[in-house]
Amino acid sequence: MNIKFRSILSALFPPLALALFPVLFLFSHNRQELLYGELWFPLLAAGASALIAFFFFAHILKREICSASLLASLFICAFWYYGFFYESLFGLFAKEGAFLREFSRNRTLIVLWAFLWGVLLLVSLKWRATLRPISKPLSFALILLLLLPIGNLVAYEFTYRQDISSQTLPSAPLSAEAALPDIYYLIPDGRANSEILSEFFGYDDSAFREELESRGFHIVENSLSNYPSTRFSLPSTFNMEYLSSSDLSYTRQLAEQNKAASFLKERGYKFVFVGSGSSVITGEEADVRFTSSDFHRIVQSMTALGPLMNPRTKVLNAFSDIEKATKLPGPKFVIVHILIPHIPYVFGENGEYIGNNPGQKDTPRDMELYLGQLKFADKKFKEAVDTILAAAGSTPPIVVIQSDHGVHLPKEWVENDEERAKLQLRNFSAFLLPGKSEVPPESWSAVNTFRFLFDLYFSTNFGFLEDRYWPSGTSF
Ligand SMILES: [Zn+2]
Repeated sequence: MNIKFRSILSALFPPLALALFPVLFLFSHNRQELLYGELWFPLLAAGASALIAFFFFAHILKREICSASLLASLFICAFWYYGFFYESLFGLFAKEGAFLREFSRNRTLIVLWAFLWGVLLLVSLKWRATLRPISKPLSFALILLLLLPIGNLVAYEFTYRQDISSQTLPSAPLSAEAALPDIYYLIPDGRANSEILSEFFGYDDSAFREELESRGFHIVENSLSNYPSTRFSLPSTFNMEYLSSSDLSYTRQLAEQNKAASFLKERGYKFVFVGSGSSVITGEEADVRFTSSDFHRIVQSMTALGPLMNPRTKVLNAFSDIEKATKLPGPKFVIVHILIPHIPYVFGENGEYIGNNPGQKDTPRDMELYLGQLKFADKKFKEAVDTILAAAGSTPPIVVIQSDHGVHLPKEWVENDEERAKLQLRNFSAFLLPGKSEVPPESWSAVNTFRFLFDLYFSTNFGFLEDRYWPSGTSF
């Protein structure tokens, strides 16, 4: 290798390492919810940004590559670390709920951020000759920094990685009926049970319920999720089993390669996934998918481009994707996972923009925003049902609307932690079961959803599991 090429490589290393680090860090931090396929694009983007920054500064500094390396590193920090800065500030001021609303989150901060780094860049440009000796120790420190996420990933591969053994499914004769019904499973993430809404929010959702009932839905009054969070709830529901402690390290794979979808695929169904972006399921194993990777969104939100992102688009896109899914030839199993009324709160009850409210603290004010977003979610899901029914051919579809859990109420409303955790399990479940007079039992939990549907329509004998609950979401 010639000397010049080697010195370019070593000058390129600091900006490259600084750009790759946040991507690797986020990936290793959320490893059990992610797939390697999602890592390559952000890594390439990070690498490309470092190359562009380096060659740009090398060009304007007339090939002083050591200084170009330093300035490119500063630029990379400004671009790739804004989200970390914002998040730490958010953590610092989280108790003052007002801080973020008044400070209009990103807008003011990003100007301040750009100003600070601009000054730093100019100062470094001026004193670049004196700063040159720091490049070697900087590179050394960056090697150590990169080893952290890489070490984590390697450790993960050795400790946890295992393929999910293909669980045997009971073989059942294909339904005697001529045509198999399409199956739609719609998940309004975090939609609370009607009783919770009336008791704690003073909101009567009977208009929504009546709309569903007039279309033939049966609403399960006493419905519960078995877990308080998406990450546990969806894998368990789709696999028709409770999670064991060994399942915890690969909940993502369990959700993607789920038993309900395999069961239906064996019977000639197409697995279709529509999602608004989530790190729990993105339809990796689906035959047709309409969604984007949530990891890409998280990585983007950490960069200085974060403030430009509009969290509403992915939700609205997902609702329009439902219509595209209805047009696919059947029989099909369509999972629709949309993150409303779940945080962030960005929709008012008529879909109007209400600002970007992270809502992570579950304060009474957050609950007002939750209720507004829930009313909008109900409208959109009702429209989705109409779209599905309008597109149905001669065989009417099975449609289930079931939230993965309810709402986490503020401590001000329910003081007792355990009680509050239990109330969060109270979810919403509604079933449209064409051609059947059976309805789900009144005491209902999500783990039995597909057991019930398959026994009813495919004459299997899954039966019901005894209802069990993990309100705290830990210790299985
Ligand atoms: Zn959820």
